[in-house]
Amino acid sequence: MTIAIEVENLCKHYGEQQAVKGISFTVEQGTLFAFLGANGAGKSTTIEILCTLLKKSSGQVTINGFTLDASNDNGDIRKSIGVVFQQSILDERLTVRENILHRGQTYGLSKTQLTENYQFVSTYLHLDDIEKQKYGTLSGGQKRRADIARALIHRPSILFLDEPTTGLDPQTRQFVWQAIKQLQQKTNMTVFLTTHYMEEAAVAHQVLVLKQGTIVAQGTPDALKTKYAYDSMALIFHNPLKGVRWLEENALSYTEKQGIYTIRLSSTLHALTLLKQAEKLIASFEVIKGSMDDVFLHIMAEEEIA
Ligand code: ATP
Repeated sequence: MTIAIEVENLCKHYGEQQAVKGISFTVEQGTLFAFLGANGAGKSTTIEILCTLLKKSSGQVTINGFTLDASNDNGDIRKSIGVVFQQSILDERLTVRENILHRGQTYGLSKTQLTENYQFVSTYLHLDDIEKQKYGTLSGGQKRRADIARALIHRPSILFLDEPTTGLDPQTRQFVWQAIKQLQQKTNMTVFLTTHYMEEAAVAHQVLVLKQGTIVAQGTPDALKTKYAYDSMALIFHNPLKGVRWLEENALSYTEKQGIYTIRLSSTLHALTLLKQAEKLIASFEVIKGSMDDVFLHIMAEEEIA
């Protein structure tokens, strides 16, 4: 196992404001790592420090084996990472292709290498239809594809993405997200991203949740779901009075809304046992899987599932 990112006791304060309070974590090479937290949790501050754009107050950061050092420009780290922030930094007056090639030249890539790398990013980000268009005339989703392509032109081994799909319509969001996932899976790149979309976090290898500058949860999506979410079953009874009697006789606590009775399951299979027992009473049912949304909401509310 190779460690791509190692963070030890990282702190950042802005004057009196303590934005990041001594966090430690590692990210394995070739994984998708989701960095979550409510607004103001310290995500952007952390990601900007990891990308060498902001000075840490204390702690140690190692990226691709290079230690972040306030006394130099951290060129080795910069060359080995790609960064996409929410605000674009591409030139509106240049075409997508010109923007990306120009960026590649700043890394001193040879002409052959640049052509090869451009072909690579163009394939993954589907640039064919937009490469000759001026960046300033693109839609939000097209701009995002160009932003990611620009960040990848030097073939970094870690890609940092700060809310890559925020503000895009659902279809475009899906398209951009698929491109990110494919890149990660097919090229074994490390992808470190912040997101507010829990369905994106659900496919990450590791998820870390930050709250007010402190890590409050960390693990695989499955482990977090086991700890912070649960499956439930919604039931509609032929005769609600008989249904409630059955629930109470079996000591099943429930909530009721518009004739739909929802009970918590100890596991998905628990539904089968209950359905067999109450088959004659039930007009309709739905088993609802615990989701990453539940995980996030429970963590924020500081609830752990017993
Ligand atoms: P969001 O999801 O809204 O982007 P975040 O998790 O990225 O939030 P940060 O932007 O890192 O959070 O902010 C963490 C805390 O640090 C916040 O309380 C914010 O107000 C504060 N903060 C961030 N930048 C500065 C700054 N330049 N000066 C003073 N305080 C700052």
